[in-house]
Parts: sequence; structure tokens; C-alpha cells
Amino acid sequence: MSQPAATFELIVIGAGINGAAIAREAALAGVKVLVVERGDVGGGTSSASSRLIHGGLRYLEYLELGLVYESLHERERLLRLAPHLVAPLELVIPVYRGARRPRWQIGVGLALYDLLSIGRSVPGRTMLRRDQLLARMPGLNSNELVGGASYYDGQVRYPERLVVENLLDAVANGAVLRTRARVTRVCVDSGRAVGVEWQAADGASGGAAAPLIVNAAGPWVDEVLGPIQHTRLLGGTKGSHVIVPPFPGAPRTGVYVEAAADGRPFFILPWNDLLLIGTTDERFDGDAEAAAIDAHEIAYLTSETERVFPAAAGLAARLLYTHTGVRPLPWQPRGATGAITRRHVIRRHRAARGLYSVVGGKLTTHRALAEDVLRKIRGELPRPISGHPTRTRPLPGALDAPARDALLAEIGARLGPAQAQRLWHVYGSAAVEIATLALRPDLAVQLDAISGVLVAELVYSIEREWAVTLEDLLQRRCMAGLCADFGVGAARGAAAALVRLGIWDAARAATELDAYRALAARHYVAASVLVAL
Ligand SMILES: Cc1cc2nc3c(=O)[nH]c(=O)nc-3n(C[C@H](O)[C@H](O)[C@H](O)COP(=O)(O)OP(=O)(O)OC[C@H]3O[C@@H](n4cnc5c(N)ncnc54)[C@H](O)[C@@H]3O)c2cc1C
Repeated sequence: MSQPAATFELIVIGAGINGAAIAREAALAGVKVLVVERGDVGGGTSSASSRLIHGGLRYLEYLELGLVYESLHERERLLRLAPHLVAPLELVIPVYRGARRPRWQIGVGLALYDLLSIGRSVPGRTMLRRDQLLARMPGLNSNELVGGASYYDGQVRYPERLVVENLLDAVANGAVLRTRARVTRVCVDSGRAVGVEWQAADGASGGAAAPLIVNAAGPWVDEVLGPIQHTRLLGGTKGSHVIVPPFPGAPRTGVYVEAAADGRPFFILPWNDLLLIGTTDERFDGDAEAAAIDAHEIAYLTSETERVFPAAAGLAARLLYTHTGVRPLPWQPRGATGAITRRHVIRRHRAARGLYSVVGGKLTTHRALAEDVLRKIRGELPRPISGHPTRTRPLPGALDAPARDALLAEIGARLGPAQAQRLWHVYGSAAVEIATLALRPDLAVQLDAISGVLVAELVYSIEREWAVTLEDLLQRRCMAGLCADFGVGAARGAAAALVRLGIWDAARAATELDAYRALAARHYVAASVLVAL
């Protein structure tokens, strides 16, 4: 390494949901851990998912019983340990004549799903006759409709905040987080991993030493390994979503339905007062950072939705924005993408002892994956570790129902009930700190009417949550970027407020706005919306 390096017991590469969870698990076990992230926390795949905390009903077709069982139990934990972020979501499965999966098969799958989620807090399945289904969902296409079923899973409105909270807990327990530092080399000496080198966003290089390194770089795992690993570990598949405003007769529950074009099931999900529709699943070999939705994916998702809900006609013209990510799945060159296992694997590298790579891993199972990593490396840690603290430990923002109600009453009395609810669902218990900051009149100003975000939130996230850019702030902290206008309305207000507060100068604000405009264009935000930027 080029300069004397700080020494840690464990270095985690990547601060997506999995890196964040590993750091939390390790820090709580007393391990001296450093997390190195090349961009912002949660800026990779973790912010491009379907936002479901689910067992994965579809995986039963591939007899992934272990994965479904684990996921369903992690779902239950997250509902309990992160109630501000994760909520139960009802999903309805309409079945049409000629479907690949007939109604009886769905019934069997859901019975097994219920069995595997024994001890759950959410309701079990209900089989629905055609008339019952139409009474519940009048907007549904009734043509060739046979009947259907309803079941429950979990939804995390903001996985971005799940990443932030895992890291807040990790750092509160001694972890060190270094963002905007791309690991350029895993250093190996005599067959042992000894540390990493990185290049920071400002061009400076640096490094750190540790006898244990976990590569949790999501779809970039192979890139991080470079020459250490000659065979490919990952074979990513691209998945896209379109985000649209609710149409007349839009479902209030999630809908999980087979696409007519290829028989793949896809989701139409009520989310954030909008509809999140996805996903596609296509092999992807390019740079995951450049992955974007294609015209044929938009056509597939919108036309399939219009088929199920005829009143949605003309959906493509009402598209608000899109999200695309690359699933970090194990390399499996042949077969259907849907058949590639969603189970995670922790790979130990023989060419660099002490180095491990995380292959796969769903949002839902991040905590269990972190436990698996700690179990794997336990024997190489300098002192014994025991216990499983995260099994019962709430995320930092979690509160029980009486404490939550007290928080909502307190903040609601000052800022109004809607604002109190919004702050709770973004920051959990830390909403009180935001409300306290907002006692200052200049920090109580709202950025715009759509998001309702307060200037206080920007200050809080810059000071306490490692936010640096406008994109970090809007997309992954205050969540204005997930509103109907992609945060375009909030962007100007945010930049102006940070200039007024002396945190940015005018040139920085202009650069940030330019970068945000480019980001919005990449997410297909309409030119008519972008003019406001
Ligand atoms: C379309 C789609 C839908 C999905 N839906 C769901 C769902 O509904 N439910 C569910 O449970 N799961 C879902 N998933 C899966 C889930 O989102 C991912 O498996 C999970 O987010 C992966 O997290 P990660 O931390 O491993 O990777 P990432 O979130 O990609 O994090 C990896 C991090 O490593 C960083 N990094 C990369 N290279 C370097 C480097 N050289 N140096 C430092 N840092 C580096 C990146 O910047 C990134 O932040 C979905 C995935 C996709 C793509």
C-alpha cells in the first residue's frame, strides 16, 4: 500500500443493504470494522428493488423451501424490528383461463407459504371466487377471469432508509464508514488478504489494513476481485420498474399476475401514493451502473398492466419515472433467468485467505445473510464472539406502538398530523430530532408542496447521515426523490436553502442541480417536468 494504513479487524467493501447489515452485525459483536463504499450508501441495487419484504411465493416453483422459510421468518422480524419502515401488504393474484399456473396450483403454493410462515403476524391466504375478486377489485379485467387468491407479504417503502439505519447502528457501535472511496485493489500478501486500496472521489488515494475482508459489492463483486478470481462468480439480471400515478379503479392492494406475453408473474404495487410496476428479468453483462430501462421493457410492463386493468389504457404516456437495477445472482449461463437461485452464497477465496465474497442476497434476507457471514469468519476473528444480537434488536428508528403514538402526537401538535406521519415513516424515532431542528424558523421551511420536506431534514442528513450531494439527499435520505415528480420540485428549494445556510456556494448548487437533472433524465422523467429544474 502507498501509505501507512489504518488497521481494522474486518473491512467490508460496499454499503448496500448487505454490506450495511454485515457491518452492523460485526460491530455489535465487538469487531473493529471499516466499511468502504465507492458512492453513497444504498445507491446500488438496494434502491432499485420491488421493495417487497417477502418470502418469494415464486421460489416455491423451484422448490427453494429453505430460502422461502428463511425469508418469511426475516419478513416477520422486520415487521417487528422496523415498524416505521416495513408494513404488511395484501397481494391479490387474479387467475385467467389458460394461465401457466392454474388456480389449484396457486392454492397449493399459498398453503405451503402459510405453512412455512408458521407463527406469522399477518393474515393467511384466502381463495377468491371470480365474483368475490371482482367485488373487491372492480377495475380488474373480467374477461376470462377464473378467480384468484389473496395473501400477505411485507413492503418496505424506503429500502434506502433501511440501509441508512443499519449503518447508523453499525457506526453507533464502533464501525467506521468511508463513502465515496472506490476500492481499486484487494491487497494480498503470501496468499493472505491484508487490506484494500481505494481511490476517493476527489482523486486522493488511500487504504486500510485488515486480516479479514468481505466483498459485498453487489453486482460489482467480480470487478472488485479482479485478478484474484479467474472464474466468474456473478451473472447479473437486469430488472426494471415503471412508476405511474394511480389510474381509475387502480388496486389498493398489490396485484401479482402472470404476464400474457411470457407467463412470468409481475407486480402492480400501491406504493408511496403511486403505483410501482415491475419487474423484468433479463441477462445483463454490461456495467451495472449504466443499466437503464429499455423501450421494450416499458412496453411490456405498461401493456401487461393495461391488459389486467383496462382503465389504465395509455399508461406509457403517464409514466412518471423508472428504476432499473442488476440482481447480483450467481453465474448460471443457461436456462431461464427466473430459475436462477435467489439464495445467497458466501464464497471463501483460496487465493486470498481471509477474503470472502457475497454472491446474491435479497433485501429481505440481509440480516440473516449478515449472520451467515459472521458465522463463516468467526474462527478467524481475534476473540470469540457469541450470540445473535440482531435477531431481537430493533433498528435505531423503531418504537413500540405507544411510543410511536406519543411521537406522532407531539410532532403532530407542532407540524400537523400529515407531516408527523411522513417524518415517522422516513426517520422513525429520529423524527423528534428533525422536529426540534425545525423550531428554527429558517429550518422549518418546506422545500415544496409535493414532498413536504423541511430544510431541517437536509441539515440533519448532512450532519448525521453522511449525505453529500443533492442526489443523496433527495433520493436516499428525505425521500423527496421518490415523489411523483422525482423530487424535481424539491431540488431547487433544497439547493437554494443550502446556499442560504452557507453549506453550499452558488457554483456548487448549480453543479448539483445539473447532476440531478441528468439523473432525472436517466430515469425517464418527462421533459415537461424537468423544465422546473
Ligand atoms: C429489479 C429488482 C427487484 C428486486 N426486488 C426485490 C424485492 O422486492 N425484495 C427483495 O428482498 N429483494 C429484491 N431484489 C434483490 C435486492 O434488491 C438485492 O439483492 C440487494 O439489494 C443487493 O444488495 P447488495 O448490498 O448486495 O448490493 P448493492 O445494493 O448493489 O450494494 C453494493 C454496493 O457496493 C458498492 N461498490 C461497488 N463496487 C465498489 C468498490 N469497488 N468499492 C467500494 N464500493 C463498491 C456499490 O456502490 C453499492 O453501493 C431486487 C433486485 C432487483 C434488481
